[in-house]
Amino acid sequence: MPWIDTHCHLDAPEFDADREAVWQRARAAGVTVGVLPAVQAAHFEGVRELAHRLGLAYALGIHPLCVGTAADADLEVLRDALARHRDDSRLVAVGEIGLDWFVPGLDRARQERFYIAQLKLAREAGLPAILHVRRSADGLLAGLRRIETAGGIAHAFNGSAQQAQAFVERGWRLGFGGAMTFERARQIRELAATLPETVPVLETDAPDIPPQWLYRNAEQRARGEFARNEPAELPRIAQTLAQLRGWSLEQTAARTAANASAALPRLRALLEPA
Ligand SMILES: [Zn+2]
Repeated sequence: MPWIDTHCHLDAPEFDADREAVWQRARAAGVTVGVLPAVQAAHFEGVRELAHRLGLAYALGIHPLCVGTAADADLEVLRDALARHRDDSRLVAVGEIGLDWFVPGLDRARQERFYIAQLKLAREAGLPAILHVRRSADGLLAGLRRIETAGGIAHAFNGSAQQAQAFVERGWRLGFGGAMTFERARQIRELAATLPETVPVLETDAPDIPPQWLYRNAEQRARGEFARNEPAELPRIAQTLAQLRGWSLEQTAARTAANASAALPRLRALLEPA
């Protein structure tokens, strides 16, 4: 069963010691493709090289949490990189871009400016986008109403049913991962269970958003207990989606792979056996 991790940050320093082994474990667990979203301009070439080295897909973009330290000129760096790698079949989206209205102290106006500018670059490149949503679904939707794009994935979706519906009506897929494995995540589980079957895609967001079985509370973390999420967890995370939807694992793999390829069409070529 081919699983697709539509969102994993394998370039993160948490994987410096064992990146290759982490991806080998994912392969052994049946994860055939991962999508690496870049978070800042300085990482673009590194993410691209890593994707080529490990046989993964990648996206280029400036993350809303990195906008504070990004230079305005980084938007030009992004435009140049998208043009330079236009014919690279592993470049599947513009991302990770979006808005974070949860983390205190961020410059909202600057985030919005970078978000809109990057939506325009996605449109210009004819690529879908990968969106970061945190308390910001309405702001993201406002941008999508202004800038007509090729759609994509709202990753680790955490908005309301109404907001989810608005993304779905615009042709977007929504990403589900570790958060869905917690019983208390009622709203996310309800969405995962009830959205049209053409909507959910799977992701780990590794090394972040550990599923319930890897979760460590603040006290445990202070004692040095480990809680790194990795792509090899995806099939187990998928079991939660299968249970919530009443799907077999085979159906879950096939459906979510089809949804991921519909959202990021360049994935299709990467999924075909060589
Ligand atoms: Zn991310």
